[in-house]
Amino acid sequence: TKAQEEEIIRRTQASEKNDTSELRKVSRQVYLQKRRDQKLLEIRDDIIDHEYIFEGMKLTEAEERVHRYKRKIYELAKEHLGDVDNINEYKMPEAYDMEGRVNQEKRFAAAMQRYRDPEAAEKMNPFAEQEAWEEHQIGKATIKFGSKDRKQAADDYQYVFEDGVEFIKASVMDGTQFEDELSSGNDDSSDAKTMLEMLQEDRKSLPIYPYREELLKAIQDHQVLVIVGETGSGKTTQIPQYLHEAGYTKAGKIACTQPRRVAAMSVAARVSQEMGVKLGHEVGYSIRFEDCTSEKTVLKYMTDGMLLREFLGEPDLASYNVVMVDEAHERTLSTDILFGLVKDIARFRKDLKLLISSATLDAEKFSDYFDSAPIFKIPGRRYPVEIHFTTAPEADYIDAAIVTVLQIHVTQPLGDILVFLTGQEEIETVDEILKHRIKGLGTKIAELIICPIYANLPTELQAKIFEPAPEGARKVVLATNIAETSLTIDGIKYVVDPGFCKIKSYNPRTGMESLLVNPISKASAEQRAGRSGRTGPGKCFRLYTKYNYDHDLEENTVPEIQRTNLANVVLTLKSLGIHDLVNFDFMDPPPSETLLKALEQLFALNALNSRGELTKTGRRMAEFPLDPMLSKMIVASDKYKCSDEIISIAAMLSVGNSIFYRPKDKQVHADNARMNFHTGNVGDHIALLNVRSMKRARDIRDQLEGLLERVEIELTSNANDLDTIKKAITSGFFHHSAKLQKNGSYRTVKNPQTVYIHPNSGLAQVLPHWVIYHELVLTTKEFMRQVTELKPEWLVEIAPHFYQLKD
Ligand code: ADP
Ligand code: MG
Repeated sequence: TKAQEEEIIRRTQASEKNDTSELRKVSRQVYLQKRRDQKLLEIRDDIIDHEYIFEGMKLTEAEERVHRYKRKIYELAKEHLGDVDNINEYKMPEAYDMEGRVNQEKRFAAAMQRYRDPEAAEKMNPFAEQEAWEEHQIGKATIKFGSKDRKQAADDYQYVFEDGVEFIKASVMDGTQFEDELSSGNDDSSDAKTMLEMLQEDRKSLPIYPYREELLKAIQDHQVLVIVGETGSGKTTQIPQYLHEAGYTKAGKIACTQPRRVAAMSVAARVSQEMGVKLGHEVGYSIRFEDCTSEKTVLKYMTDGMLLREFLGEPDLASYNVVMVDEAHERTLSTDILFGLVKDIARFRKDLKLLISSATLDAEKFSDYFDSAPIFKIPGRRYPVEIHFTTAPEADYIDAAIVTVLQIHVTQPLGDILVFLTGQEEIETVDEILKHRIKGLGTKIAELIICPIYANLPTELQAKIFEPAPEGARKVVLATNIAETSLTIDGIKYVVDPGFCKIKSYNPRTGMESLLVNPISKASAEQRAGRSGRTGPGKCFRLYTKYNYDHDLEENTVPEIQRTNLANVVLTLKSLGIHDLVNFDFMDPPPSETLLKALEQLFALNALNSRGELTKTGRRMAEFPLDPMLSKMIVASDKYKCSDEIISIAAMLSVGNSIFYRPKDKQVHADNARMNFHTGNVGDHIALLNVRSMKRARDIRDQLEGLLERVEIELTSNANDLDTIKKAITSGFFHHSAKLQKNGSYRTVKNPQTVYIHPNSGLAQVLPHWVIYHELVLTTKEFMRQVTELKPEWLVEIAPHFYQLKD
């Protein structure tokens, strides 16, 4: 068999030479074809929408013209792009989740077969040879690495690189070296030092430390200060502490806002450690449905959304002495609204200090907005970073990311890897496949510790990403965008950047909001690359081409306010007494169409009256930290005497997928068990996670119960009459109704679009005539998630102004 193996290698190497260029060409064609097909599908959908809207109606001349025009475009497009019926719809990463794993299984099965019976395997799988060769090469390289035959190994690695994902080094991001500083006070940290002393030394080694006095002076001299500094320089953890040490907390609290929950929690935990206090005492955090603060709390880390809500109870933020709007460059919706509100209160509260801090350089814009506030720059300290691009587009970035991680692991000197993925499901997929492949590589390679980090990761596991890898091991952090600027993980030497992130987008025409995987901006790409150069020279592997970077990426990410449903914000602003939304001091005003749509939606929900003023229902709704549709559902439960059931439903919906998401996952684990590479205790962990999610749902429910009391809704149960519960749900979600079509698909009622019941839904086989859904998710198709059957007459009964009866 050894001879056979060598023969395979020889043959594949020979055929390989010709195949790769062909393969690359094909992958480039596939990429271009995809983009064209996408366009064609869009045009087709547009026509279908159009036909649906006017179905059975007499068209005006203008409408006729538009219709003819659209058809014409479609015909032309078909001529140029091919037949739309032959287009396979593309798989988004969520769909990859299942299929990707299945494919992976197949590949491993094929790999095993190959070694037993190479000839049969070859007939079975056209890629078998190449795969055999690839696996062998990786295996060989690692064996060499283990045997410390450096020179020979280096050659092999070269080969592995070429065969897996091929990169070219494109440029080097300059760094500002600071070795003299770094070497000071190092390494001789004796065991005698306490944890606290060591943390104090860490604090002094941060780039911001030398500027402490200057910064405090600037804050003293100016009411508003814009602070810019490279990620990891110490803005978030240090500035609030400096202010505390300088006595600012004697007169009030310090708020520091974060766009992300995980960042608020993790940073607060770190700062409480540095100050040697218990989390929740002097230092605390506040995120939606979780308040970890107390009477004692003076440094309060919170999500920007939570500070926004605090305005409702305390319009002048009287209990705060300093407000630091951190991570301002992220331009989340809440941050943008906060800008307007804090700018306003700073005018009449001269004692309030306002800090706007940002990781990127567009600080001028912040300064301009805040009446030319001075900018304090913390000089960056970063080592140079080598940028590598792939030589051809990668058809599957998940696969490419996995291969790249393995390549780095077997060929590059120790140092941790950071991989940017778009969400929890992707992270879990990569985690699993990596574990499997590492196992396949045996014990010859260094240990690879996989650390996932995303918003819903249990707090206990979040801390793991900050723990240094043990001697001789390497850590690979699989992170969402959160590691781009919000969290700094020390020791990262390699960054793998597939170039995607999940971005919310909103179509004001249809009122539909979706979370889609999109290319990142150049600004994001630079930030990501920079993460590898914090503790030494770094390398960034971009899984896209230089051409893509230059031509396809936007300069900056569009601020969220430009691409989201504003109903929630409008409701909050209205309840703060801000009526003139058009003239609100937005840094970048939202499209007026989006504002109008939000007003319309709130009017339909009966939260605003026809003059645009808050109604009693609207005032009650604003008390709930939930989307308007959910809060309307709760307020409506008063009428239907089923508030008890409804807040349970709302709580469960707010916990997200973490409870029901599991069964699907288990199924995959069952498959894996069959493959015999997973131990049984994974199931136990997941069981624990389930318990956690249930506890969280319980907590949220308790809080909602408290809020019910505040808006004077009695807790009543009506469990025997399910129709009343459904009616309460409909009161909030009548915008989301859909009607069954002949082919088993659904058409949304208000803005016609073809959708399907998610296969996970209990109604997926039932297919009721009418349904309402909680949300749409786009994977292979546009799916409705959380679906309930509905009687159409309820729509007219509950939302007569929205669903007017013809005649
Ligand atoms: P910036 O806000 O300027 O990006 P930070 O204040 O967040 O910088 O980070 C400063 C330092 O604190 C970094 O070295 C980072 O690794 C460390 N740090 C922050 N949070 C934690 C944590 N939860 N655990 C360990 N270290 C942390
Ligand atoms: Mg920060």
